Amino acid sequence: MDFELTQRQKQIRSAAREFAEGEFPGVAREYDRREEFPKELWKKACELGFIGVFIKKDYGGLGLGFLEFAIVMEEFWRVDPGCGNILLTAFGAELIQLYGTEEQKKKYLPPLTKGEAIMGCAITEPDAGSDILSILTLAKREGDQYVINGAKQFITNGSIANYLAVFCLTHPEAESRLKRFGVLLVETDRPGFGALKITGKMGIRASDTAELRFSDVKVPKENLIGMKDGEGFSQIMQLFNINRVIATFQGVGVAQGALDKAIQYVKKRKQFGQPIGTFQAVQFRIAEMATWVEAARVLGYQAGWMIDHGKVDPKLISMAKWLAGEVGVKVTNEALQLHGGYGYIADYDVERFYRDAKIVELYEGTKEIEKNTIAREILGDYR
Ligand SMILES: Cc1cc2nc3c(=O)[nH]c(=O)nc-3n(C[C@H](O)[C@H](O)[C@H](O)COP(=O)(O)OP(=O)(O)OC[C@H]3O[C@@H](n4cnc5c(N)ncnc54)[C@H](O)[C@@H]3O)c2cc1C
Repeated sequence: MDFELTQRQKQIRSAAREFAEGEFPGVAREYDRREEFPKELWKKACELGFIGVFIKKDYGGLGLGFLEFAIVMEEFWRVDPGCGNILLTAFGAELIQLYGTEEQKKKYLPPLTKGEAIMGCAITEPDAGSDILSILTLAKREGDQYVINGAKQFITNGSIANYLAVFCLTHPEAESRLKRFGVLLVETDRPGFGALKITGKMGIRASDTAELRFSDVKVPKENLIGMKDGEGFSQIMQLFNINRVIATFQGVGVAQGALDKAIQYVKKRKQFGQPIGTFQAVQFRIAEMATWVEAARVLGYQAGWMIDHGKVDPKLISMAKWLAGEVGVKVTNEALQLHGGYGYIADYDVERFYRDAKIVELYEGTKEIEKNTIAREILGDYR
């Protein structure tokens, strides 16, 4: 067993750290305040090869693994979660890379890494969140095309994307519920498509989120990912496996960032004539925070390593994602507490980190859904 990152992984981590530390701090608070997607940062990240690192070299990426993607995510989120989500501008590309036809890979992947296009993945609907099998968005086959009608909710990059991978009912009549779906690539300039940006989010406010409407949106049959009917559900489940590992490192990153800030603060802030970091109650808190972060990181590394080695373990992935979400929320809360009243003010980054951390317990499966997966794998479906 080897617990060392490879030389290449260490290089990627330090390049990601250098970029995030150099670019995010001066602008993060303002993008958060304005709820604006940081377009300039996204462009620079594309130029440096950070977007879609897992995309194969033939299609413009670096050809790295999902673990390397996760390592970059941790470094970006450590400095600022909202800006860090520029890495999600290739959200859904995992599906094209894993299941797409050669034509789909050539057409849709290179623009993402070159900074010419943004994508997203639309699964959630107003009445189907955790229960994704209940989606209603219908893609009806008519000759050589699909006609899409329906609505999607809370879609990352929804109002800025050039194309989206949209989880649809393509075979509502199929006997097996699991075989009723397909994932269609939908260009957002097609007639009948509409997106409405959602404002007023609690956190990750620099990340775009939107509601989508599809009214008789027509796409050619070639836009069905993989061109295989009835495979959408299993494709989306594999996407969840990957992106739950990525979200794990969002939790680890925001927690590590908050811990870094708390360490700096307790060494500097004096009360009762001494730095507050000299009080044992404060020291214990720092010790606990550091331990939680390390535990979440190690579990995440294991889950990511297994995916890249073809040993996908949904139980372990859900454990990692649940733990990291919880650690993110706990550690940012403690970091804010250690800042006293100053932590409650937007001038201090911990205020923003505290708001940002919560999302990891909600998207890519809520923490309850993660626990359902863990329990089901342990206990079996014995009802
Ligand atoms: C900022 C943001 C970005 C997002 N980005 C995307 C995106 O890009 N693409 C996308 O498709 N979706 C996205 N989502 C949606 C997100 O994945 C869903 O919000 C999430 O899956 C939960 O669905 P819901 O909000 O409908 O909650 P619900 O499913 O209605 O859940 C409500 C509560 O009930 C609990 N619950 C539900 N079922 C069970 C159960 N069986 N057992 C125990 N508890 C249960 C939940 O855990 C939760 O606490 C995003 C959401 C947000 C807020």
